Amino acid sequence: MSEPIRSGAYASLLAHLRETYLFATSASVLGWDQETTMPPGGAQLRAEQLAALSTLVHERHVSPEVGEWIAWCEADPVVQGDPTAAVNVREIRREYDRQVRLPGSLVRELAQTTALAQQAWRDARERNDFDAFAPWLEKVFALGRAQGECLRGDSAGTPYDALLDVYEPGARAADLEKVFGELRAELAPLIAELSASGRQPDGGVQRGSIPVAQQAAFNRFVAERIGFDFNAGRLDTSAHPFCEGIGPGDTRMTTRYREENFADSLSSMMHEVGHGLYEQGLPKAENFGAPIAQAATLGIHESQSRLWENMVGRSRPFWEWAVPELRRAFGAPVAEATPSVLYGAVNLVRPNLIRVDSDEATYNLHIMLRFDIERAMLAGDLRIADLPGSWNERMRQDLRLEVPDDRRGCLQDIHWSMGAIGYFPTYTLGNLFAAQLWEALSGDVPDVEDRIARGDFSAILEWLRANIHRQGRRYSAAELCQRATGAELSAAPFMRYLRGKLRPLYGMP
Ligand code: ZN
Repeated sequence: MSEPIRSGAYASLLAHLRETYLFATSASVLGWDQETTMPPGGAQLRAEQLAALSTLVHERHVSPEVGEWIAWCEADPVVQGDPTAAVNVREIRREYDRQVRLPGSLVRELAQTTALAQQAWRDARERNDFDAFAPWLEKVFALGRAQGECLRGDSAGTPYDALLDVYEPGARAADLEKVFGELRAELAPLIAELSASGRQPDGGVQRGSIPVAQQAAFNRFVAERIGFDFNAGRLDTSAHPFCEGIGPGDTRMTTRYREENFADSLSSMMHEVGHGLYEQGLPKAENFGAPIAQAATLGIHESQSRLWENMVGRSRPFWEWAVPELRRAFGAPVAEATPSVLYGAVNLVRPNLIRVDSDEATYNLHIMLRFDIERAMLAGDLRIADLPGSWNERMRQDLRLEVPDDRRGCLQDIHWSMGAIGYFPTYTLGNLFAAQLWEALSGDVPDVEDRIARGDFSAILEWLRANIHRQGRRYSAAELCQRATGAELSAAPFMRYLRGKLRPLYGMP
């Protein structure tokens, strides 16, 4: 190979990848449309569109010249000597090796099956009909098993580890089991203590309904104040809030509205805006399509949403700032709201059947339940037919709740119908990362609470931009955590944060 070809390999690789991302991000727009505006009749066509695009994207990822370019880049001292280029090549290699292990027929089958399974899940959940969804779940887990086997290659990990690695590169189920175990050991007694406490915060803060349009305007005001750029993003409505960072200049968030509960919509917006700020802060403009412009892991992504939703949005100073603004925006329904009452209301700990409606403390028990159950189903230790029984038993044990129907039990989440096996643990990882980042941030910005109370969020955003957002995929989640906080991830900061907030609220020393 001559020198010019070698040094051209990096440019060719990035140009190819950039075009691949033009297709991939087109699929993202179609995905956003599917959740926000598409009529039900469009489901079949959309499934075919998404399958066609994902086949195309897969073929481009595994085309033979990509493998050659990567090999040249790996052997090129100029490329390897440039820190950003070296990161890009490292991550392109990771993705390439993963894609090459998946046969095109499996990729196609996964895309088609999961698109239809999602529709089947929607219908089954609405009709509370687990039996109608069970055959789809059977198919999805069989495909997931095949996918895990392919991705694992000859590595020592399990097929579940291989799937987990798609969402949380570097994570292993055994390591998660250890951290989650530490968390559970401290969380369960705290939850029991809180529910036994004679003093409970007041949950009712809103009198009468607040029209959706007023709530939407208020959400937008808060999102903008926090730092979300609406020239480069949108906030729309969907049944299940999400955020899609489509590309440079285009980040789409959604929330949902309940007229009788503005705080629910506000906090789900705060969550998505955390994701949105991360997407807007990634170095995409200069590096569109390159790994350096992408989020580190889903756990890190979730840490950004949790930090804004919980550490900021469920803090006392946040409500000191927000209550006068709320009164101006909503009038009579919140006339009696005070910062103390709202602070208590948004921090109620009460076991809930529904994961997404759960408080910060009990939420993680929902994740551990799903983590254990999906591993058992993937390994074949739990039959699909036994899922409802197993789910309900765990809910009884862990949250002391009776599950009245599958709609509010094992049919509540979309993830498995999408083929997202190994995704759930990233939510709890996000909670743990968020608390650890918040401790470090509070050390670096000692007056952070006063700033929040004044409605000044800029120091928080700047800290996150510097430590997390602008780093893109330069570091693994473990390295990022170490660099930003000076320690490896543990459950301790999260437990300190929860105890520090909840015990005083519940009148405990
Ligand atoms: Zn999230």
